[in-house]
Amino acid sequence: MPAKAERALRGRLLSFLDDPATAGAAASHSYVEDGLLVIAEGRIARLGEAKDLLGALPEGLPVDHYPGDLILPGFIDPHIHYPQTQVIASYGTQLLDWLERYAFVEEQKFADPDHAARVAAFFLDELLRNGTTTAAVYCTVHAASVEAFFAESARRNTRMLAGKVLMDRGAPAGLLDRAQSGYDESKALIARWQGRGRQHYAVTPRFAVTSSPAQLEAAGALLREQPEVYLQTHLAENRREIETVKALFPEAKSYTDVYDRFGLLGPRALFGHCLHLKAAERRRLSESGSVAVFCPTSNLFIGSGLFDLKAARDPRFPLRCGLATDVGGGTSYSLLRTLGEAYKVQQLRGRNLAPFEAFYLATLGNARALGLEAEIGSLGPGREADLVVLDAGATPAMAHRRETIAGDLAEELFLLMTLGDDRAVRATYVAGQRLHERA
Ligand SMILES: [Zn+2]
Repeated sequence: MPAKAERALRGRLLSFLDDPATAGAAASHSYVEDGLLVIAEGRIARLGEAKDLLGALPEGLPVDHYPGDLILPGFIDPHIHYPQTQVIASYGTQLLDWLERYAFVEEQKFADPDHAARVAAFFLDELLRNGTTTAAVYCTVHAASVEAFFAESARRNTRMLAGKVLMDRGAPAGLLDRAQSGYDESKALIARWQGRGRQHYAVTPRFAVTSSPAQLEAAGALLREQPEVYLQTHLAENRREIETVKALFPEAKSYTDVYDRFGLLGPRALFGHCLHLKAAERRRLSESGSVAVFCPTSNLFIGSGLFDLKAARDPRFPLRCGLATDVGGGTSYSLLRTLGEAYKVQQLRGRNLAPFEAFYLATLGNARALGLEAEIGSLGPGREADLVVLDAGATPAMAHRRETIAGDLAEELFLLMTLGDDRAVRATYVAGQRLHERA
């Protein structure tokens, strides 16, 4: 018996089928000008032209009608730090000083589970206000910070990846674990949260600067023992960081090789930044199916560098890529703003980021980066009903600019990513439930 319909959404349906960079813009997406999407048991039951489907809807089924708005799969943010919500917009430093002066001070507060719960709740609501329904999230070294995060995520039924940060050197004493305690705590958290509802665990050594060889070895052991979990860390973000790693691991051929030696590369491994890579490192990341995550607002704000999307698409060793905010080094929770900054970074690299390619990255592209494309990231029967409703006339400046667009979808998307932010998010749905509605 088919699942019972719970509600329907009507509006302009946009979803990606493939990467516009390889498939071409026209073949990359599906678009229905007056579409209807029917939700049953938290998933998309069917979708198509409103005129074809409206007549067959069960009597009394609620239909949320968004005339003129775009309905897309919810945005996905594959690199973000929930404990940094109160150090976003901190002045005047580059990576290592930024960590010392701001992030490490702030993260010590998460020894208090009440503080962690309060910030986790704020963080998840803020993601939903920005249309983001899935993220890969760094917690702190404290196991309680992970408990607090997953508890709040489970309460909202959001699909989230998160993990306890592993750090056993190079940070204040209050933020250090040990190789064995970090392993034990991670293992216990995996047992509690991996695959529970919509939660996924990510083994999270912060970066090679703050983990000893023994700790990276333990992280590799966790991945071998629990093949379903993810790995998230940082790689080649800043020149001084790279020099530090070289001094700490003199036997390694490169920064990437440090992680490679401990078995941390692979299709479930997410490497934040990847700004300063040598050809051999790109080759190893490509061969192993690892994911490079481009975080434009963070890279500009911390002055780290310009991600090379063209090199990432080199057919000799193409990299799987994600695109993320990296709050609080990043300066916006909004994937729309992040796409706008990604465009500017690519301009400085002498190329464009086309609007279809940008919106692909924020939805299906990021779902593929996480290997979750069967569940999220597109609109289709059976997909989880995580949705964002976008209004390209959200501000006077946007409405004024939109007058000149005359129904051109690519131009409308470019307007959204250049002038849009949380104000353009009319509503956000999580597994078919509307959890955010713009006032
Ligand atoms: Zn980060």
